[in-house]
Amino acid sequence: MPMFCAVYGCSNRSNREATRSFYRVPKVVVHRGEKSKQLTEKRRRKWLENLRLLSKGAESNNACVCSDHFVNGRPSDVNDSESVDWAPTVHLGYQKGKPVSEVPRKREKMMMAMDDQHQDGARALLDHHWTNKNIKQDDTDMLHGRQDD
Ligand SMILES: [Zn+2]
Repeated sequence: MPMFCAVYGCSNRSNREATRSFYRVPKVVVHRGEKSKQLTEKRRRKWLENLRLLSKGAESNNACVCSDHFVNGRPSDVNDSESVDWAPTVHLGYQKGKPVSEVPRKREKMMMAMDDQHQDGARALLDHHWTNKNIKQDDTDMLHGRQDD
């Protein structure tokens, strides 16, 4: 059975791409103790996150990633969690295309920018108010001074 690369926008498949290797999304290892389970769980999540496969759930059980998506052409050892190739990071498609998750992030940025402007506006208003108040106080003092005469 040919293996298809699960990366968005990557059409490599094992029966066509003799020069490429294909790597299955790592499974969670449960029978080698708690530490191994946690590590493999973390790794699987990272792969699915990087591949944007989170929503596909069970479908991603047999998903494969081709060697194009690893800096060194293959995933690192599961224990080598500091390696750049612990999970696929190269040519992940959605970086060029239109990723779904970019939209809310952009909107968030806009909101933040608007908040900044709003705060600046409020500060300017406050400054204005403060200046007016000072002027008014001065006026009153001057008036008082006149009255004292
Ligand atoms: Zn691929």
